[in-house]
Amino acid sequence: MSQDINSNPHRRYNILTGEWVLVSPHRTKRPWQGKMEKVCLDEQPQYDETCYLCPGNTRSNGDVNPKYEKPYSFINDFPALLKDIPYEQFSDGLLKAESESGICKVVCFSPDHSLTLPLMSIEAITEVISLWQKEYKELGEIEGINHIQIFENKGDSMGCSNPHPHGQIWSQRSIPQEVVKKQVKLKTYWDKHKRSLLEDYVHQELELDQRVIIENEFFVALIPYWAIWPYETMILPKKKIAHLGELNETQKQSFAEIIKNTTIKLDNIFSISFPYSMGIHQAPTDGEEHQEWHFHMSFYPPLLRSATVKKFMVGYEMFADPQRDITAEQAADTIKSLSDIHYSLQKTNNY
Ligand SMILES: [Zn+2]
Repeated sequence: MSQDINSNPHRRYNILTGEWVLVSPHRTKRPWQGKMEKVCLDEQPQYDETCYLCPGNTRSNGDVNPKYEKPYSFINDFPALLKDIPYEQFSDGLLKAESESGICKVVCFSPDHSLTLPLMSIEAITEVISLWQKEYKELGEIEGINHIQIFENKGDSMGCSNPHPHGQIWSQRSIPQEVVKKQVKLKTYWDKHKRSLLEDYVHQELELDQRVIIENEFFVALIPYWAIWPYETMILPKKKIAHLGELNETQKQSFAEIIKNTTIKLDNIFSISFPYSMGIHQAPTDGEEHQEWHFHMSFYPPLLRSATVKKFMVGYEMFADPQRDITAEQAADTIKSLSDIHYSLQKTNNY
């Protein structure tokens, strides 16, 4: 492959969605000069009496959280989807709609208000994965729940107002369009080659070793070739695993370890608790076999050059294609060069 293409403006193809991203590396020809601005963050207490997610606290609808000690999930008090909505279709000329039903849950990762995934132990993250696994199985068995979206919004800039470590699960009747795009590509490849598209992709990435950040026994963390967000990161199993329900205990620990180490690296980029939207895409629960599926976890962090400079998807990106300046390889080099120890634990030595 010509290396020139990587230093000149080019478009990269996303094999998972069929979409393109415009890469403009000439805009950052100088070496990485990301400022290490220190952002003063309020230290969070381990327990906050005003937090509606802390153990034992009363939520806004009057329900009281149990004094949970392990990851805890409950039905969202203000859900975007409701369970018992009868299926209806509406069609009038060019206007089309259909009713949607589902169950939305909140998952508290830890009883400790002050923690985030990178600061949790591998054992504690494994328990979060076990709860995601349980929810995937239980929600997926419910008639009319065909897709389960696990996600986390972390940080004010991602619209998350509560710092308590938590994520959400929205499960629903229809399969969302981001997942449908990927499913089409995964299935086309599977039908043609009888191999997983992402297994072949991981194999190529490990061989090239240009975008891989971390690798352990079962998982790889990398900057996808087609990444849109500056430090977009993907964690995926090396061998095809269709959904979280298939993970055994050893694989769950391996997954927890790479989640911890990847999020430590992300926090260390600007020495802040790195904001992101994280989501897991996995096989739908619509009763089909889905041999083509290869689950993966994606982090979409909005920050660009410093803790205070955010990337905006506006203008050309709203009307044409997403665009990035830092290449995926530069982002991977930056992240690889960072310490494996969380910045907050490094600092204590300096006091
Ligand atoms: Zn809390």
